[in-house]
Amino acid sequence: MSLRYKKIAVKIGSNVLTRKDGTLDITRMSALVDQIAVLHKQGVEIVLISSGAVASGRSILGVNKKMNIVDQRQLYSAVGQAKLINHYWDLFREHNITVGQVLTMKENFSSRRHYLNQRNCMQVMLDNNVIPIVNENDTVSVSELMFTDNDELSGLIASMMDMEALIILSNIDGIFNGSPTLPESKVIPKIEKGQDISDFIQTSKSTFGRGGMGTKTTIARKIADEGIEVYIANGKSENILIKLLNEKENAISTHFVASKESVSSVKKWIAHSQGFAKGEIHIDANAAKALTGEKAVSLLPIGVVKVTGEFEKDDIVSIIDPDGNTLGIGKVWCDSKKAVEIAGKKNQRPIIHCDYLYLE
Ligand code: GLU
Repeated sequence: MSLRYKKIAVKIGSNVLTRKDGTLDITRMSALVDQIAVLHKQGVEIVLISSGAVASGRSILGVNKKMNIVDQRQLYSAVGQAKLINHYWDLFREHNITVGQVLTMKENFSSRRHYLNQRNCMQVMLDNNVIPIVNENDTVSVSELMFTDNDELSGLIASMMDMEALIILSNIDGIFNGSPTLPESKVIPKIEKGQDISDFIQTSKSTFGRGGMGTKTTIARKIADEGIEVYIANGKSENILIKLLNEKENAISTHFVASKESVSSVKKWIAHSQGFAKGEIHIDANAAKALTGEKAVSLLPIGVVKVTGEFEKDDIVSIIDPDGNTLGIGKVWCDSKKAVEIAGKKNQRPIIHCDYLYLE
């Protein structure tokens, strides 16, 4: 089999792994594991991001309406994750493949040091032929600081591990050009950079997971813009992973075509650091115009009108235009004290270099 990619991240959503009644669908899980095993044996490096912990815990313990949402999530995920990883372990064992569990949280990506630590953890597993199975650590993560959903987490992992492709498996065939329930609606096979698809996005949320098509497409576009091919496909359709990777086949899916420009690893980290900004740099209209223009430019202190928050050198800050809009984020070269000191001054080195700038 001639393969399209040698390094992939595969995200399996809760709706793929659960039956209508909320119980874990082991047959489906087993079918996906079989496909991953085939690819792994062909030398494909795979990181698996699997949801299903909360759904599986809920199906074991039953719904207790008296418990608040946070208690429910913590209890269900603690029980459900143990069950989920046990099944994966047994299923992969049948193929003589070793898997390892990585439970993570948004905070673990907040500083460059933490980020590199996460990357090292997964790289060392891959180097030792172990398939990492990643999920958010729902038992201890704090609601406000959680990933929007596992789609966001899978995007971060694909970007961090420099994957060639990210495959998001859901329970529908891709993005439809109309309501998926209408017979005339068709899956859009390819979405190019800059193509507007807002008309096609259904706003309904997934039944057992936290995500939906809206977040999926936002993440897919962002990751594709970083140079990674993204596919949204149906995890329940037969041999979907093999078909997506086999050059001779054309599986039904929506492919977000990757941008050809390469993005540096630091820039990728910055692109996923929204929410970690330690302060704000307010800029004037001229600076805003320069930053949003065609050419990549650095932010100079002369264009800075106000600095808020307390930050250290190399922290992430938000960049705010005169209308109060957040233009993007960047890594600052100095701390907030120094930033206040040089704001508005001429002949200074850039406060944020263009290599460390991410505009939305
Ligand atoms: N981490 C959650 C779980 O395993 C899923 C989050 C999501 O639905 O994306 O149950």
